[in-house]
Amino acid sequence: MTTLILAPDVAAKIAAGEVIERPASVVKELVENAIDALATQIKIEVTGGGVSLIRVTDNGLGIVESEVEIVFERHATSKVVTIEDLESIKTLGFRGEALPSIAAVADTTMISRTKEAYHGTCIILRNGVVIEKKQAGSPQGTSITVQNLFKNVPARLKFLKTSNTENNHIINVVSQYSLAFPAIRFVLVIDGKTILSMPGNGRLQDALVELYGMDVAKHMIEIEDNVEEFDESIPRVSGCIAASTVTRSNRNYQSFFINGRWVKNNMLSYALEEAYHGLLMVGRHPIAAIYISLPPGEIDVNVHPAKTEVRFRQEGKVFKALQKAVRASLIGSMAVPMVKSSPESGIVIEKPAAMAGQKTEKYDIDSFPDSSKDQSHPLEMGLPVLHVIGQISNMYVVAEGPYGIYLIDQHAAHERILYEQLKSKPDPKSVDVQGLLEPLYMELTPRQERIIQLYIGLLTEYGFTIEPFGDSTYLLRAVPALLREQNIIESLTAILDTVDDHPSDLQETLIESMACHGAIKAGKTLTIEEMKNLIGQLEKAALPYTCPHGRPTMIHFSLTQLQKEFGRK
Ligand code: ADP
Ligand code: MG
Repeated sequence: MTTLILAPDVAAKIAAGEVIERPASVVKELVENAIDALATQIKIEVTGGGVSLIRVTDNGLGIVESEVEIVFERHATSKVVTIEDLESIKTLGFRGEALPSIAAVADTTMISRTKEAYHGTCIILRNGVVIEKKQAGSPQGTSITVQNLFKNVPARLKFLKTSNTENNHIINVVSQYSLAFPAIRFVLVIDGKTILSMPGNGRLQDALVELYGMDVAKHMIEIEDNVEEFDESIPRVSGCIAASTVTRSNRNYQSFFINGRWVKNNMLSYALEEAYHGLLMVGRHPIAAIYISLPPGEIDVNVHPAKTEVRFRQEGKVFKALQKAVRASLIGSMAVPMVKSSPESGIVIEKPAAMAGQKTEKYDIDSFPDSSKDQSHPLEMGLPVLHVIGQISNMYVVAEGPYGIYLIDQHAAHERILYEQLKSKPDPKSVDVQGLLEPLYMELTPRQERIIQLYIGLLTEYGFTIEPFGDSTYLLRAVPALLREQNIIESLTAILDTVDDHPSDLQETLIESMACHGAIKAGKTLTIEEMKNLIGQLEKAALPYTCPHGRPTMIHFSLTQLQKEFGRK
C-alpha cells in the first residue's frame, strides 16, 4: 500500500463535504455570515432546489477590496485569533471554513462593498480558484452567488432529494434564522416566488404570524423571563411556546437558540415536552421558539463542522431552567378552570392558578362523582339515548339520560361527529360539496400559499374548489358542505394555518383540522332542534366521549352522585 498526501483540491472537496451537505447548508453558512456582518436585511434567492443557484445578499459591513481573496482561503476568519477566543465567541462563524468549502464544490461569485469604499469588488472562483477579480458597482454589503452546486462531486449530487425537498430544507433554515433574529428582514425567493417576507421589526410574535400563521401565533404564550434568578451561571430562558391545545404531529416546530445560534439538541426537546407533562395527547408535540442565553464559557460550540450542535458544561442546569420556565408560563396562561373526567377517580376539577407562581389548587370533587357506583354511566358502552334539556353559556348542552345528567361541550362533541364522518368515507370524494353562488376571494400569506400547494390535491378531493387568481389571490368556488355554516374564508385560512407543512399523515392532519374548524363554535346559541340533532349524531359516534384530540366531550353526573351531594344518601 502506498501512502500519499491528498492533492489539495481533493482534500478541499473532502473537507467541504463535512460543512456543505446539501443546498440548505450553503444557505445556512451564507446567512450566518450576513448576520455576523451585522446585516439588517438579508435576501435569499434560490432556483432549481438550490443546485442551480443560491444567492444571498446582505446590507452588512462588506469586505474590503484587499481581503476578498483571503476570505476564500481555508481557516480565514475575522472572528477568532487565539484558541481562548472560542471561550467567548459571540459570532455564529469561527471556523473559517464555509467560503472555501462552498467555492470548492460550486461556481462562486462574490460582490462586496464596505461603507468607506467608493466601489464594490467582484471576485469569481472556479474549483476554489480565483479566475477573475474586478471593480463593480454595488450597494453596501455583500452578495454571494453559488451556482452548479456539487457539479464536481457527483456522489453528493446523487444523494440530493427532489427540488421540493431541498427547498423545504432551505425554507426551514431561513425560518429558523428568522425566529432567532426577528429584527432582521429576511426575504426568501424560490424560483421567482416570494416564500417568506419577514417583517424584521424585532417582534417575535410578528415573526410567528408570518411563519406559522395567525391561528397558531395567537395561541403562543410568551415565556416569562426568569430574570429574578439571575446569577451568572443560570441559563436565561425566553421566547414563545404554544398553548397545549395547539400541537403538531412532529417536532419540526420546535426551535432552540443558544446565544443566538440555532441548535439541534434532543435534551432541549425533552425538557420542553417534560414541561407539558400531562397536557399533551400521545403523539402530539408542542410548538416553541426558545432562546437560551448563558455565558459563552458554559458551552462548547465547536462540536460539529456545521456548528448545529453544542455541548453544555452543566446540562442538568439547562434542562431544569428550560423546563421550569416553560411550565411556569404554561400554568400562568391557564386562567380558565379545566374540567377532567376519568373513570377511576371520577371528576377532578383542576383550577390552575391565574398567575404564574401561585399554587395550583386542585378540587377533587369526590363527594359527587363516583362513577364506580351503581347508576353511574357504564363507560365502556355507547352513549344512551339522551333527552335535551337546554344550553348553558352558549357552550354546553344539558341533557338527561337513564344514568343521570350529562353536560356536553357542543364544540368538542360536534368535532368528534365530523371527524368520524370524514374518517368513515373510504373515498373522500363522497364528502358532500356545496357550490358557492359567488366565488370568494382569498388573499394568502406566503406560508398559506405553500400549504395550499402541498394540500391542493387532498383539498380538492374533500370538496374545495380553489383556483389561483394571480398574486397570492385565490378564488374559492366550492367547499365541503360541512363547512357551509361557517365563515368559510376564516375556516379555510384557519385550516391552512393549523395544518403541518411536514405532516406525518397529510390526510389525518387535514381531517382533524376540517373537523375542528367545521365544528359548531363555543358561544353559538343553539335551538332545541339543533341540540337534539347534535346529541342524536353523538349517540351514533363510535367514540362519543372524547374529541379527536382526546379531550372529553362531556361530563357525567350520576344520580347517585347527585343524591349524595344533596345529602339523600
Ligand atoms: P467564518 O464565518 O467562520 O469566519 P467563513 O468562511 O464563513 O468563516 O467566512 C470567512 C470570513 O469572510 C469571515 O470571517 C468574514 O470576515 C468574511 N465574510 C464572509 N461573509 C461575509 C459577509 N456576508 N459580510 C462580511 N464579511 C463576510
Ligand atoms: Mg461563516
